[in-house]
Amino acid sequence: MTVQAVKGTRDILPDEARRWQRVEEMARRQFRRYGFREIRTPIFESTELFARGIGEATDIVSKEMYTFTDRGERSLTLRPENTAPVVRAAIEHHLFQRVDCERLYYIGPMFRYERPQKGRMRQFSQIGVEAFGSDAPALDAEVMEMSMVFLEGLGISAATLAVNSVGCKECRGVYREKLREALAGRVGELCVDCQRRYRENPLRILDCKVGCRRLLAHAPTLLDTLDAPCREHFEQVRGTLDLLQVPYQLDPHLVRGLDYYMRTTFEVLGASLGAQDALLGGGRYDGLVEELGGPAVPGFGFACGLDRLVLSLPEPSGPSREVPDVFVAALGDAAWERALLLVRDLRRRDLWVEWEPARGKALKSQARKADRLGARHTLFLGDEELRRGFWTLKTMEGGSQREIPSADLEGLVKELVG
Ligand code: AMP
Repeated sequence: MTVQAVKGTRDILPDEARRWQRVEEMARRQFRRYGFREIRTPIFESTELFARGIGEATDIVSKEMYTFTDRGERSLTLRPENTAPVVRAAIEHHLFQRVDCERLYYIGPMFRYERPQKGRMRQFSQIGVEAFGSDAPALDAEVMEMSMVFLEGLGISAATLAVNSVGCKECRGVYREKLREALAGRVGELCVDCQRRYRENPLRILDCKVGCRRLLAHAPTLLDTLDAPCREHFEQVRGTLDLLQVPYQLDPHLVRGLDYYMRTTFEVLGASLGAQDALLGGGRYDGLVEELGGPAVPGFGFACGLDRLVLSLPEPSGPSREVPDVFVAALGDAAWERALLLVRDLRRRDLWVEWEPARGKALKSQARKADRLGARHTLFLGDEELRRGFWTLKTMEGGSQREIPSADLEGLVKELVG
C-alpha cells in the first residue's frame, strides 16, 4: 500500500507552485513600498505562547492546536498563526528598543486541526504583516489600503473590504453582559460549544461555525457599545479610508477568532470562494506586546490565506506551462563533451537548458525528449558540425533551421532569447 498525504494537507505541484510564487513576489514587492521587512520565525513554539497570546477560550486554542510533548518533556505547538510568534521574536531580540515603528511581514505554513473542506486545510499558508509602534487610526487605514493594493496587483479586483470595531477591553466587558442578557432565555437553543462560550466569552458566539449567530440577529452590536475614545478612533479610521478612496462595507458582526484584537478589525472577502470567502483578516492588537512580556507597543496587522488566494487568482495570460529555452542534442563522443560545456555556458547565461546526460543515445530519441519537454529550440551537435565549426539550431515555432558559428556564443544566446 502506498503512503498518501495526511488529511488536511496537500501537495502543491509545479504548475500551481508558479502561482504561489507570483503571489509571494507581489507581496514582497508591495509590502516593501510600505516599509515592511521580512521576518522568519520557527514553525513550532512553546504552547504557552499561543495560550497567552490568542486566548484560552478561542476555538484555535481550545480545540485546533497541534500540540505535542517533545523528548525533553516540553509542551510545543505547531504555530496556528504567526502574530504571537512575531511579537515573541521582536521582544526577544529587542526590536522595539531599536526603533519604535518596526514593520514586519512573514510568509509560511500554519497548522490548525479543523474540518478540512475547499479552502480550509489543516496545514495552510499565510502571508501576514505586523505594523508596530503607532495607535493612530490612519495606520489602520494605511495597512487596509495596502492589503487591497496587494490583491489588485494580483488581478483580484472584486474583493470586498469589511470593517468593524470591537472596541477595547472595557467596551467588550459591557458588550459581553449585553449579549448574555440578549440570550438569557435561549441558552438551551445554542450548540454545546456556544453554551460553553456563553459562560466563558459570549463574544465568541459571533464566530460560531454552526449557525448560533442567527440568535443574535436582533441583539445589540459592539458598534452600539463603543466608548467615546473607541468611537472616535473608528470614525477616524473610516474618514481616512474615505480620503484614500478605499471603498469598504461596515460589518457590525465582524469579530475575529483571536482574542487579541481590539478596536479596528477587518476582513477582505473574495467574490468566488463560497463559504470560505475570507481572503485575509486582521486588525489592531494594542496590548498584545505587553501581554507577552514586552513594552507597551501598539500593533496592527493582517494575515492572508495563500491557499484561498491562489484559488481565486484569475487565469494567467500567456503559455500555461513554462518550457525550456533550448535542448542540446549531441551525437558521438567528441560532440557529447562539447555539448557538456555548451550546456554549462548557456546555463551561466541564465537560459533554461535541457540535454541528455546519458552518452550515446540515438539522435532520434534525443529529439523526442526535446519534443516532450516542449523546448523552444533544439541545438544539434554531430561530428560534421564539430569538424566545420558550427551548430545547427532548430526553432520549434515555424520549424526553421539554421547554422551558427560555434565560436559565436553571444550570437547563439541572442538567437535563443530572441
Ligand atoms: P485568521 O488567522 O484566522 O485570522 O485567518 C486569516 C486568513 O487565513 C483567513 O482569512 C484565511 O484566508 C486563512 N485561513 C485561516 N484558516 C485557514 C485554513 N484552515 N485553511 C486555509 N486558510 C485559512
